[in-house]
Amino acid sequence: MTTDVKCIKCGEEKPGLAAPPFRPGTKLAPLGAEIQQKICAGCYKDWIAMSVKLVNELRLDTTDPRGQELWLKQMKIFLNLDESSDPWARHLDKRVVVETADGRSITATLIGADDHRLTFSDFDGPVPAGFEVGGNKGAGSLARDAIKTVEPAA
Ligand SMILES: [Zn+2]
Repeated sequence: MTTDVKCIKCGEEKPGLAAPPFRPGTKLAPLGAEIQQKICAGCYKDWIAMSVKLVNELRLDTTDPRGQELWLKQMKIFLNLDESSDPWARHLDKRVVVETADGRSITATLIGADDHRLTFSDFDGPVPAGFEVGGNKGAGSLARDAIKTVEPAA
């Protein structure tokens, strides 16, 4: 049976997961327990949908340790489990306007954030100059140094 959790992603009191998302006894079990305590079932479902997109668009290989690490990092950012509380990562999976350091204003969907780069997709056109093209479906990433602000698109 499920109990309500005070979800740290959406901030609401909602039913949690019926079971932790990672099997007991594995190295991810503590994280799974944390998710069951802190994240509502709806938000976890949102992450799964986002995760499928990430794996496709970034061509993440989740059988590869580096791919797994990146996947976990994106999950923690998406679910607000990352203590580093990156202000830009709050806009993950949302339409944003990116102000670049060289004064351009670009609208896209933020799909990834690691320590050095932000990754976007669904640009209003081809991947803009200066963005590193990655994966399929027109994803492109830009170094954090080259970004001035990231704001939700109106
Ligand atoms: Zn939630």
